[in-house]
Amino acid sequence: MATSALAVENVALSFGGVKALDQVSFSVAPGTIHALIGPNGAGKSTCFNVISGVYRADSGVVRVNGNDVTGLRPHQLATRGLGRSFQNLALSMHSTVLDNVMLARHSRTRGGFLASGVRWPAMVAEQRKHTARAVEICEFLGIERLLHAPVGGLSYGDAKRVDIARALATEPEVLLLDEPAAGMNAGETAEVAELIKVVREALDISILLVEHDMTLVMGVADRITVLDFGKVVADGTPAEVRNDPEVIRAYLGE
Ligand code: ADP
Ligand code: MG
Repeated sequence: MATSALAVENVALSFGGVKALDQVSFSVAPGTIHALIGPNGAGKSTCFNVISGVYRADSGVVRVNGNDVTGLRPHQLATRGLGRSFQNLALSMHSTVLDNVMLARHSRTRGGFLASGVRWPAMVAEQRKHTARAVEICEFLGIERLLHAPVGGLSYGDAKRVDIARALATEPEVLLLDEPAAGMNAGETAEVAELIKVVREALDISILLVEHDMTLVMGVADRITVLDFGKVVADGTPAEVRNDPEVIRAYLGE
């Protein structure tokens, strides 16, 4: 069996008496779009934060390409091939789109860049290469016209694109997206769905989508894991999950 791009193994995390994650296990196959869904309070954000190194699990293991990355900090995870978006749009509002994307890129390249001891002309060439790649990513996401615009003035949809551009700037093999359609209308949600598919096709990466909105997920995910009260209650294709009585019960009981 091929190694999973991302694997979550028996992860548990409690807040006080609340078991936010209770022995959660699932894996994302290479090159697939995998969704983690569930009603409010199911544990989706907690799981996202454990995978991305923001929270430390009480127990369990997280692997990227088979390598144990449990407990690594977010910037360390970027160098292990894990890129992430930020639901709260943690962008530098006064800086331009390009600067925001470059900043994210340096969070991965900084160490090797300064440590390499290259001479000035080589550094300039290196910097040009990074800028060109950042511009390319923005073009790919349809925000090239906004390269020099301050992030603070962008529409919500464009800010989301910058957020994804930042995640892609670290050249991830696995991309984590936290509720990319949150706060969007039906038309914008459809655009995001299209964008997610294009990213997977063009970059040949695996995507874990943490999402409350069922309609977005059903249209893009190859496989879905459903959480309810911190536990995995279903795991399968969209067709399997859609008709699963446990899933229907979880969502209706919301
Ligand atoms: P979801 O993202 O699926 O809506 P969360 O992961 O945010 O669910 O929450 C799962 C459970 O953990 C909920 O009962 C929530 O109240 C609790 N929880 C989440 N984060 C914290 C926290 N930082 N402190 C205490 N309880 C939390
Ligand atoms: Mg949440």
